[in-house]
Amino acid sequence: MSENVLEEIKTYFIDTHMHLDMIEGKSPEKVLEEAEAENVRYVINIGSSMEGSLKSVEYAKNFDNVYATVGIHPHYADKFGRKEEKLLDNLIKNNKKIVAVGETGFDFFKNPISKEEQERTFVTHIELAVKHGIPIVIHDRDAHKETINALKNFIGMKDFKGVLHCFSGDADFALKCIGMGLYVSFTGVVTFKNAKQIKEAAKIVPIEKIFIETDSPYLAPHPYRGQENYPSYVRYVAQEIARLKEIDIDDVAKITSNNAESFFNLKNK
Ligand SMILES: [Zn+2]
Ligand SMILES: [Zn+2]
Repeated sequence: MSENVLEEIKTYFIDTHMHLDMIEGKSPEKVLEEAEAENVRYVINIGSSMEGSLKSVEYAKNFDNVYATVGIHPHYADKFGRKEEKLLDNLIKNNKKIVAVGETGFDFFKNPISKEEQERTFVTHIELAVKHGIPIVIHDRDAHKETINALKNFIGMKDFKGVLHCFSGDADFALKCIGMGLYVSFTGVVTFKNAKQIKEAAKIVPIEKIFIETDSPYLAPHPYRGQENYPSYVRYVAQEIARLKEIDIDDVAKITSNNAESFFNLKNK
């Protein structure tokens, strides 16, 4: 990106992945007010259950700076059938502020749901996203191989766009994802002292392929590790990426916001 383009883009953050409905310590109004005060212009509220998806759409209706996704997390993949598929399909059709499908994918960490069930749900979500021409938000925990395998059939399709949220792999895996045309999104985990592999990945991935997110209320960045997380903390993620890449935090804000705006097509929603 040339210097001129950077100058034209205003400096603000976008928290591309958070769960307003799961935050317990503050009201949505308070959370969003504090985010705005920290220069977070938009948040993307992620649906991870049927109920959560409906709430996500409500938040997007009620708050100008909130966009929504709808989807079923792999923890609940067994609760996703034809009826739920139809419901999501209708929600997307009728709500312009739904900017992606997900989160969906694989989770093999203490998850009793079978691989087959998770894959079936994941693939149906991808098909929905492609059908509506919106991106997919992918959750991959302890499942890099399975995630790549499930995506293979869709890579290169005209309407397929995906982001691996809460990136948890190493530099090689990050480059593999970028090579497949995916984006990667970093959470507060990148700020943890022991997250060496993830720091390496953040260093090596071109900034044009990166989003920042909080995944709040989970994964609060250092120095809030272990506490409830809020979108207002997304700057700590940006700050660590700036440090790792030896660039200015303003440039991280500008470029990652620009990435997210064009990926989720926010300007036209
Ligand atoms: Zn997730
Ligand atoms: Zn999430």
